[in-house]
Parts: sequence; structure tokens; C-alpha cells
Amino acid sequence: MDTRRSQALFARAQQLMPGGVNSPVRAFKSVGGEPFFVQRADGAYLEDADGNRYIDYVGSWGPMIVGHNHPGVLAAVIETARNGLSFGTPNPLEVTMAETIARLVPSCEMVRMVNSGTEATLSAIRLARGATGRARIVKFEGCYHGHGDSFLVKAGSGALTFGVPTSPGVPKALADLTLTLPYNDFDAATALFDEAGADIAGLIIEPVVGNANCLPPREGYLQHLRELCTRHGALLIFDEVMTGFRVALGGAQQRYGVTPDLSTFGKIIGGGMPVGAYGGRADLMNQIAPAGPIYQAGTLSGNPVAMAAGLKMLELIQAPGFHDALEAKTHALCDGLEAAAREANIPFTTQRVGAMFGLFFSSEKVDTYAQAIACDTAAFNRFFHAMLERGVYLAPSAFEAGFMSSAHDDAAIAATIDAARAAFKTL
Ligand code: PMP
Repeated sequence: MDTRRSQALFARAQQLMPGGVNSPVRAFKSVGGEPFFVQRADGAYLEDADGNRYIDYVGSWGPMIVGHNHPGVLAAVIETARNGLSFGTPNPLEVTMAETIARLVPSCEMVRMVNSGTEATLSAIRLARGATGRARIVKFEGCYHGHGDSFLVKAGSGALTFGVPTSPGVPKALADLTLTLPYNDFDAATALFDEAGADIAGLIIEPVVGNANCLPPREGYLQHLRELCTRHGALLIFDEVMTGFRVALGGAQQRYGVTPDLSTFGKIIGGGMPVGAYGGRADLMNQIAPAGPIYQAGTLSGNPVAMAAGLKMLELIQAPGFHDALEAKTHALCDGLEAAAREANIPFTTQRVGAMFGLFFSSEKVDTYAQAIACDTAAFNRFFHAMLERGVYLAPSAFEAGFMSSAHDDAAIAATIDAARAAFKTL
């Protein structure tokens, strides 16, 4: 595979950008080798600067649930952009967006648009602290909620991938306010709330963890957290940046039947444009400025072009049977990968929740952080490269979930399984 153009670009990028990238996991540091630079994407495929094509299971880390460069989304962007790119005033599309989110996710009685998942989670914990008058927050080991200071404590995603889950630069005084729990451990959560419940403003969780590979909640776990938060007067915050509109139309809260007080969303509601949002109970959201005293703002928030892209995407995913079809594709892929691994005698298992999946080099089912980090990451890294050489792009880290899109047809999935059959044999 000729990658000379990507190599030349990476050499230039490394001179001027930390690690040659604008977001860490893109640099391929954990899997080794150098990243490819994408110049075009279409449906289930990426095309790099050298003209190589890859079947893509990253989907821009989530938003491309209808595939890359969907003609409907593209048309909405172009048509809206003709009227101007940003007004700095209220615009009609943000009202439609708020109505759409509130209808699809009923726990979001009110919504505030922001520009990234990071902004959404930062704002949600400020609201939790402001509304409860408490300072401590609870998060889970291996969960990633963006790069806000309070969240870079035992964080997942790139922080975990690069072995710095607790980042330098986060003052100890602030980090001390972040309490962490092992995901899927019922008793640890009960014990923490018994001890510190009166000081806890809120508990934030990825209801299906997508930043420490893919870990679904154990039966009743989210309900348990709901009960603990209610009993101790803490807010339950679902970070649905990955799961929202993906594991079900109404997100993880619909799939598991648990109602959070606040929810955060990101990428997916922008259809590829920079977007985030947080929402929840009206009595809480009304405490946000200018309705209330808790300050949060954004010059580009509710950007019309981003709203148009997101609204089109949210319209497309409301098609009858959309999520069932996605889930069937995820099962077909994961079943095929497991069979290919068995043929090659490689210990390997998967997790799937809707259009999210995880690949584990392990012989046992994995649903805790401790199990996820005990998997054979060296084997994953070899598999990643063996797949890449065969034109399949998996997330470049053993600690990231994979994403299915509606553009992945039977042929793409079959080609992926064929590639895996060959790739497993090289391990
Ligand atoms: N929360 C979760 C669950 C995420 O997966 C991410 C990003 N992968 C974020 C928050 C942060 O979003 P962003 O990168 O848009 O700031």
C-alpha cells in the first residue's frame, strides 16, 4: 500500500502540531505506525491522501451513523450555508433542534446547545454543582467525558490509551473533588454513597462505556445508580455523547429504561459538524443563564449550519426500523469476527449494543474496566495493522468502541470478515 503522501503530511504536521495531530488518539501512538490522512469519505468508506480506500468503523468517532457524506445531510448544509454561516443571534433551526431532542429524549425537557461533548459535560457538572450546592462529583474508571479538568481523573479514551488517565495540569484540589468508581460494581457504588452521599453533586456515567473498549451495563446497574442518586439528593447525569441516538433512537436511557436528571450529547447531533448539547429537567435547566444564575455561554452555539446538518441526520434516523437494521448489521459483523477468530484459534470475544461494539482479545466475556485493561493489547495492535493493510479501519486503540453505520452494506461487512479471517491467521 502506497502511503507516501500521508507520510509527507505527517512529517510536516509533527513540526507544528503536538504529535502531528489535533486530537491524541488519531496519532496511532498506541497501535504504532503512522496515521493516514483522509481527503474524502463516502458512505462506509474513507479515502486517504494516497488514494487508498478503507472500510471505516470509526465514523468520525460516532457522528457518521448514516454514513459519510450523506447526500441529504450535505444538501442541508449547502442550502443553509447560502444564508450565512453564523449570526450570533437566535435562529429558527436551534428551536427546531431543541424541540427534536426533547421529543426523542423525553427526560430533556429543556436543552442548551454547545459546540462539543467536552463543553456539554463541563456545563452539566457546573449545573449539578450549582443546583445542589455540593462540590464533589462521581465518575467511573475508564469513562471519558471530554478533557475538562474534573474528568481527567482515571479517564478512558486517549488518556487511558497513553497511560496518563489522570492528567498533569489538573490541580490536586480539583482532582480531589472527583470520586471514582469501578463500573458495573453495585456494592462499591452503594458504599461510596453511604460514605460521601451528602457531598455529591452528581454522578456522571457513560451508560454503555465506549471509551474503555465497549462495556454494557449489567442488568439493573443503571437502575441501582438511579436509586442511589435519588436517595442521596445527587443528580444522575448520563453522558450520551456516544450512546445518544445510537444504541436506540432515545439513547441508552430509552434502551435501559432509566431516566437521568441531565443528559449530555455531542458529535452525533451535528451530523459531522462541531456540536454538543446538554439537557434535562426544566427546574434544573432553568437555573442556567440567562434564566438563572449558573453561567454558561457560547458565541457559535446553535450554529445554523451545524443545526441543519444535525436535524437532517436526526430526521434520517427516525425512519422505521432504522436502529433494528443497524443492530442486525452489528451482530452480523461481530458474529463473523468471532467465527474467524475461532478458525484461527485466537482467544477473542465481542460486545455489542445497538450500533456500538467492542473487540476483546480475551477468552472470557468482558464487562468491567479491570477485565478490559487485562486484554491482550499487543494482539489487538497487530490485528489493527493486519486489518488496515487489508483495507479495514478499526479504531486505533484497544480502548475505543467501534461504530456501525447504515451505509455498511452486506458486501462491506462480508469484506471485513474476509479480511479478519486472513488477519487472525497472521497473529
Ligand atoms: N463524552 C464521551 C462519552 C465521549 O466519548 C467524548 C468524546 N469521544 C466526549 C464526551 C467529548 O466529546 P468531544 O470530543 O466532542 O469534546
